[in-house]
Amino acid sequence: MAQPPAKNPELLDTALKSLHDLLTALNVRSEPLDELAAVEGFADLYTTLLEVRNAIMATAAGDLQYQIAMRGYVPGAIKGMQASLRHLTWQTKAIASGDYSQRTDFMGEFSDAFNTMVLQLDETMRNLHLKEQDLRKMAQTDPLTGANNRGYFMELLHTEIKRCQRYSHTFSVLMLDLDNFKSINDTRGHAAGDEALRTMIRVFQSSGLRQSDFWGRIGGEEFAVTLPETTLHAAAEAAERIRANLVKTAVSYDNDKFFFTASIGVSQYKAGDALETLLQRADQAMYEAKQTGRNRVCLAP
Ligand code: GH3
Ligand code: MG
Ligand code: MG
Repeated sequence: MAQPPAKNPELLDTALKSLHDLLTALNVRSEPLDELAAVEGFADLYTTLLEVRNAIMATAAGDLQYQIAMRGYVPGAIKGMQASLRHLTWQTKAIASGDYSQRTDFMGEFSDAFNTMVLQLDETMRNLHLKEQDLRKMAQTDPLTGANNRGYFMELLHTEIKRCQRYSHTFSVLMLDLDNFKSINDTRGHAAGDEALRTMIRVFQSSGLRQSDFWGRIGGEEFAVTLPETTLHAAAEAAERIRANLVKTAVSYDNDKFFFTASIGVSQYKAGDALETLLQRADQAMYEAKQTGRNRVCLAP
């Protein structure tokens, strides 16, 4: 057993320097010098300080999984710091996946900054989501009438065809074109024509159609209606209700009232129909309604 450092000033200097190095030097020995290892208790102290040094260095370098192989006040504090940082990492991942309810209260001023950031992120994402919904709605809507626009109507119709193909169901479409619409514009003005187009939508809304039926403005004064789970004859009845409802619905414009009519073609989906084929048949039936006097419903074969 070596002489204790207290009784050997040179050994004391070497011991203090090696402990000082553990705190300040870039490279240190993994074991104490042989002459210090021989001093009772020194090897333990050296190993403890080396382990604390390694744990702090690992944590500072971002390794939050480093396991400190000892107990005690300072190792406990380092373990606590690692656990806090691990929890914060978990919270950050939760926020990244959209959980903005995360708050932290164990890291002083940092907690305040963190919580403020999450609150602002939450608000920004909420506003972005609302804007996205507005934009989607705008992209699907005809601005004049508020009805589905052509693109969105076709998208919905395409989905309906796919659904019917999968489940061997059927549905029908109506193709509706306003009669002599040009003359409304010519005699009453374009704004009166616009009001008539809006009135057409109110007529769809008040003709006892089903919740699952949907319509769109697919051209200037042309509309189409899809009636899911509806045969040709049931669809013809719905078309007739729309036609008759329209005839008695006045357009109020400029302190005046006027009426207009529409011609409607009806076609039922047949297995294997492409979207275009189905609409073409409805369009031909609508053309026939025009040819045979307007303000009427014709059925496609
Ligand atoms: P038909 O009975 O044969 O269908 O005759 P029509 O006059 O309705 O048909 P035509 O195709 O000759 O005229 C359609 C008119 O619809 C012409 C166009 O100016 C008008 N139109 C198209 N879009 C709008 C719109 O957004 N607002 C208004 N006011 N008119 C429109
Ligand atoms: Mg037309
Ligand atoms: Mg027309």
